[in-house]
Amino acid sequence: MIDALTEDLVKLDRKLAKAYGVKVNDRHEDAVTSLVHTILSQNTTDRTSDRAFGSLLATFDGWDDVLVSEASCIAQAIRQGGLAEQKAASIKAVLQKIKDDFGQISLEHLRRKPDKEAMEYLMSLKGVGPKTAACTMLFALGKKAFPVDTHVHRVANRIGIVTTKSPDESQRLLTDAAPFSICYSLHVNMIQHGRQRCHSRGPVCAGCPVQDTCKSAGVS
Ligand code: SF4
Repeated sequence: MIDALTEDLVKLDRKLAKAYGVKVNDRHEDAVTSLVHTILSQNTTDRTSDRAFGSLLATFDGWDDVLVSEASCIAQAIRQGGLAEQKAASIKAVLQKIKDDFGQISLEHLRRKPDKEAMEYLMSLKGVGPKTAACTMLFALGKKAFPVDTHVHRVANRIGIVTTKSPDESQRLLTDAAPFSICYSLHVNMIQHGRQRCHSRGPVCAGCPVQDTCKSAGVS
């Protein structure tokens, strides 16, 4: 029997895909690259973090080169992404731990591990929280996860498919309930919906593609 939340998510995916298009994962990043990219995206915009990421790749000759470099040099390379010192320290610590654990800076072997084990390893890395770990799982390892940021959390609660107090709680429920086949497209479309229409400062409900089943339609 299909769980009620699973059914709601499948319906939501159909409606958002009709409005915003089906999203396909074409990132083609290996897991370490995706992890570093996601660390750089914390507390900043995609545009700014993409610039910092590009600068990091252009400055260093691979992850081993980043690892042996001074944290101050890494911070300089990613300065435009904000929180440069903190993110440089996180990136260095993550690369060091992966090298210590596996003898090389690669996470590709996590593909062969059960989802729970892969998620637990990623979460054990300093500076890697549930959302960052879930992004790496879904975007780069092809594993089932549903990353929940502030937009996904807000949209899911406004619509009423979950009633949760934190993005982490929402992420646990959505990861369990969403079929793997819809995780990527629905995740991206919920972010797009949150940015374009269901804003934190107030939603624009008139013409919303999920208005007919949203419990907050016209009341927020
Ligand atoms: S109807 Fe309004 S509150 Fe509900 S999802 Fe759409 S914009 Fe958000």
